[in-house]
Amino acid sequence: MAEIPPGTLYVVATPIGNLEDITLRALRILGEVDLIAAEDTRRTRKLLNHFAVKTPCISYYRENEARRAEDILGRLTAGQSVALVSDAGTPGIADPGARLVNRVREAGLAVVPLPGPSALAAFLSIAGQTEPDHLFLGFLPGRAGQRRKLLQSLAVEPRPLVFYESPHRLLKSLADALAVLGNREVVLARELTKIHEEVLAGDLEELLEKLQQRPSLKGEFVVLLAGVAGVDAREESRPSGEDFAQLATWYRDQAGLSLKDAARRIAVDLGQPRSRVYRLLLDLW
Ligand code: SAM
Repeated sequence: MAEIPPGTLYVVATPIGNLEDITLRALRILGEVDLIAAEDTRRTRKLLNHFAVKTPCISYYRENEARRAEDILGRLTAGQSVALVSDAGTPGIADPGARLVNRVREAGLAVVPLPGPSALAAFLSIAGQTEPDHLFLGFLPGRAGQRRKLLQSLAVEPRPLVFYESPHRLLKSLADALAVLGNREVVLARELTKIHEEVLAGDLEELLEKLQQRPSLKGEFVVLLAGVAGVDAREESRPSGEDFAQLATWYRDQAGLSLKDAARRIAVDLGQPRSRVYRLLLDLW
């Protein structure tokens, strides 16, 4: 087996639920490095105990990232090898890691990824999306105003939007998406690789209704919202004439667009200024 080169930082993916998802390489490297930098040392210790890995751990989380990055860099420069792990999944994907990776690379030392579980990759593998790409947003902003603003800025984004969500914010985010983007297709996964794994698909209205009926929402979520391209796919049935009211009704009821998105589209369809279309639409909506 290859020797561990001194001064290497390994960025190691760990399971997002099912411990059997740890890779053989991750187990070997975690056992062989001098030190593991973990987002939550107690949590990582449980994982390491399960696999009888005895390597010492130090913490590396958002709040101590800057300071810790320097400590770790010092150790790497002195010839030690270090593995970076987050609480679950792949470090650096909506998790701390980037600052350390940058510092180590700038110092001319090796940064080696150990691929493995990620909620994003696991989700995309079963989302059944035929689009060639998507836009991953990490977590949506916690504040309602900022969240809606972000969604608004993506109202005509053709790529599907993918984001992580916590149980206490899920309904608020889906409701905001419905209000800002209009009714769109959604795929939502909960507790991937765990006992209560669940995947739901439908449109925003349907899914919101279903989830609102549940007495409680638990677990971790990944969500995909169809991009505005989903609307393009249905455009064949769009009224062909220049009838403003017909177009407006179609965009609202068939394509599920919000007032603002419909105004954008009709303005293009009819070659009219968007502000004028928007004012006219206000009466019809
Ligand atoms: N870096 C991690 C990764 O690659 O999976 C993600 C870290 S982020 C702080 C945690 C979020 O990932 C959770 O709030 C949830 O949205 C998503 N997540 C993590 N584990 C999950 C799981 N088992 N099922 C569904 N979503 C999960």
